[in-house]
Amino acid sequence: MIRTVVCEKDGCSGNEFYIKSEDNKLKLICKECESIYYHDINYYDFIMLSSCSSCNNNVFKVFKDLDNDNIYAKCTKCGAPPEKIFIDSDGVQVTYEAKLLCDIKDLMHKVDQRVCNLELKLDDLERGQELLEESLAYINKYMCE
Ligand SMILES: [Zn+2]
Ligand SMILES: [Zn+2]
Repeated sequence: MIRTVVCEKDGCSGNEFYIKSEDNKLKLICKECESIYYHDINYYDFIMLSSCSSCNNNVFKVFKDLDNDNIYAKCTKCGAPPEKIFIDSDGVQVTYEAKLLCDIKDLMHKVDQRVCNLELKLDDLERGQELLEESLAYINKYMCE
């Protein structure tokens, strides 16, 4: 279930926030009363920046998926998510495109490995068949005699 994050301060029901990433935490600042909330985002492989990825607005509505604790933010003007910076496997900050490329390379490597394993199995199979044929030839010879 996805819930809209609303400011919990008494008398404030603000649902628009400024966002900021700080030490693996997402900091939400209520636009109305400036109350600050932190969400743990340790497990994300990206950092959300403070501005919209498409219109540079810096106010967001924030949603929380109660099933897995995931946090989403949507620009209040255009609905786009905030700009993101991804962290690759070496801990280096990269753009989404670079991260995608890296993931694809990783995937290709895995596919390569699988093809390699498959070839090895095929070799085994061929060897097995040769053995079988040899045995059959032997049996035939034996039966004819
Ligand atoms: Zn508030
Ligand atoms: Zn926007």
